[in-house]
Amino acid sequence: MAKLTFLGATGTVTGSRFHLQIDGKNILIDCGLFQGPKRVRIKNWEPFPVSPSSFDFVLLTHAHIDHSGYLPKFVREGFSGKIICTHATAELCKVMLKDSAHIQEEDAKWANKKGFSKHSPALPLYTAQDAENTIKLFKPLHYGDFFQLSEHTRVKFHDSGHILGAALIDIKTKKGEGSRKILFSGDLGRPEIPILNEPNQVYNVDYLVLESTYGLRTHKSVDPVGELVEVINRSMKRGGSLVIPAFSVGRTQTLLYLLRLLEEEGRIDSYPIYVDSPMAIEALKIFDDHIRDFDLLTRMQKMQGKDIFKPQNLHICRSKEDSIAINRQRKGVIIISASGMVTGGRILHHLAQRLPDSKNTVLLMGYQAEGTRGRTIQERKKTVKIHGVHVPINAQIEMIDGFSGHADYNEMLAWLMPFNKVPKQVFMVHGEAEASEAMAEKIRKTYGWNVTVPQFGQSFELT
Ligand SMILES: [Zn+2]
Repeated sequence: MAKLTFLGATGTVTGSRFHLQIDGKNILIDCGLFQGPKRVRIKNWEPFPVSPSSFDFVLLTHAHIDHSGYLPKFVREGFSGKIICTHATAELCKVMLKDSAHIQEEDAKWANKKGFSKHSPALPLYTAQDAENTIKLFKPLHYGDFFQLSEHTRVKFHDSGHILGAALIDIKTKKGEGSRKILFSGDLGRPEIPILNEPNQVYNVDYLVLESTYGLRTHKSVDPVGELVEVINRSMKRGGSLVIPAFSVGRTQTLLYLLRLLEEEGRIDSYPIYVDSPMAIEALKIFDDHIRDFDLLTRMQKMQGKDIFKPQNLHICRSKEDSIAINRQRKGVIIISASGMVTGGRILHHLAQRLPDSKNTVLLMGYQAEGTRGRTIQERKKTVKIHGVHVPINAQIEMIDGFSGHADYNEMLAWLMPFNKVPKQVFMVHGEAEASEAMAEKIRKTYGWNVTVPQFGQSFELT
């Protein structure tokens, strides 16, 4: 008998944490941070429902903070087992957890300075030291490797195509007569995303825990690369600059790859391109070290000796001085900087510089959550507040939504189609409540499967 308890990502897209008790072991699948509005974030401060010291393993689907960002707290509260994930996920987590700890510490400092915390002094959720202690527990595997969690239970990672290193986690127990396979989708990728593979197919699944971020929506753009070409050519013709807020891990590398390719194909001229995000630069090195995880097309370009992330006129900005020096380039440049939703980072000073001029263009390429500056810009409000100043939004605002890393509902149904047997039960997680319900209903209607939308804290026996 195995038991699965849902400790996060129920009715929300953050805080992925699933507790699996199997074959005498306590396993946590993903250890994510709750993100977004305060009522959700507050959950990070509640005591973990089960003592972290009682867990044997944490298995990670991928490095995104909503799947990995609670780890340093989990370790601080007593977890000392192994953290198992792919090599790329382990490398990306090293960078991202340190960055997350830095943000936690800065937030606490800020709260103390402004005196708005109820606690005195305000403490960070975790520290850089906690992140360091966490990194020591990583045990990376390659896709396809078997790892024995206990005598009768093994785990294997399959490429999920969501970000570099992202995996479907496949746990199989074989005991006596019976054997069962439990599959966790993590975040499910999509067809035709540059660099990444399509999500793998896994067979003989008995229980499936499936994400449903896009349970209610489909991706609109059919040719995101074509749209990117048009935006670049249009904005450069206007005689201004192009500023692209982009997530440091994933989106920035995709952009560099595409800009290089589009130059080579003669679809865009080679403009000076500035990458201004320290974490994106670190992540770029990790991408270069994990070429074996790329899709076939990208690997073939590498075989031809191409420097795949290097457009002709690329400038990497490491120091603050490098960053500020970009301000002197008044036109004809492309600036890529984080954060993707303009919540912080070096992108702030670039936007403060460029937004007031109508010759410039700002290109938004990802989801802009409510309450973020990214959303204010997307909605083309008159001004946006940056560093206490109301900056007028006169620049052209462009949007491309087609590079999303999440499968929409049609893509998810297509991924489920080749399943060679009917799963005993499918659990819908990682979606707003309506999206999870909608996705559940689509699977019931299309395939007639048994689909459940679990509540927070709910447990299920997996027979
Ligand atoms: Zn993700």
